[in-house]
Amino acid sequence: MLLIRDGRIIRRNMSQDKELNLINVVGIGPGNISMMSYDAVEVIKGSDTIVGYPVYLKLVEELTGGKEIISTPMKQEVERCRIAFEEAEKGRKVAVISSGDAGIYGMASLMYELLPEHPSCEIRIVAGITAANSGAAVLGAPLSVDFAVISMSDLLTPFELIEKRLKAAASSDMVIVLYNPSSHKRKDYLARACELIKEYIPSGRACGYVKNIGREGQEAVTLTFDELSRTEVDMFTTVYIGNSQSYIENRKMITRRGYDKGGQL
Ligand code: SAH
Repeated sequence: MLLIRDGRIIRRNMSQDKELNLINVVGIGPGNISMMSYDAVEVIKGSDTIVGYPVYLKLVEELTGGKEIISTPMKQEVERCRIAFEEAEKGRKVAVISSGDAGIYGMASLMYELLPEHPSCEIRIVAGITAANSGAAVLGAPLSVDFAVISMSDLLTPFELIEKRLKAAASSDMVIVLYNPSSHKRKDYLARACELIKEYIPSGRACGYVKNIGREGQEAVTLTFDELSRTEVDMFTTVYIGNSQSYIENRKMITRRGYDKGGQL
């Protein structure tokens, strides 16, 4: 049985009289504090210890003055989560921050995977705006119908599986959103993705990309699939490949939902 008071889990069962150590896993949105949820801002302000990747800690530094900041470099996600649990076990109010939404290529699932090793802890996920929809808002309305988000990173997913997913999405006329279209080591992920799906996508298909969404240097570009396949983007970019109903007008990318505009809606 759970006893919840003011949104906090006080007891897991009635015989256990101890308060659980709550760790908030917070999605901070794409970058700008104005794009964080009210809950995310409040949770960060109310925490003693903020754990995250240095770039994301910098994005929220105006909320974290005077707090303990623990950062670990990229690719040390397991270590970062373990530190969060250890700090919470010391009785600190811990927030683990993740860019965009913590549950989308973020830290939320790993925190749950490690939770069984830390029975005195409890996790709460605070939702954030993921790059796919914050970038879509900048581009226009590309995601008005079914879409697939696919990460090109093969650090944790074998490339054959990424290839299969890309082809499945392209062959079923889904709008495709690509995360990690480039990395320090691989600048050609986007070109590879386009090569893999070109049999399904005509060269004039409406596409777009947004760089540095909600951050300094934000830049949105609309272009054809053919142009996209010859474009190199960086790792802070989200790419959109339209479906057969997508079009570009006044440099905006829009996907029709199929409304009959002549009739009464
Ligand atoms: N958890 C994050 C995604 C992490 S994967 C989220 O929900 O948004 C990292 C990829 O997300 C990047 O390679 C890029 O493709 C995309 N991304 C994240 N933040 C971005 C931003 N501010 N601008 C553009 N793309 C971004």
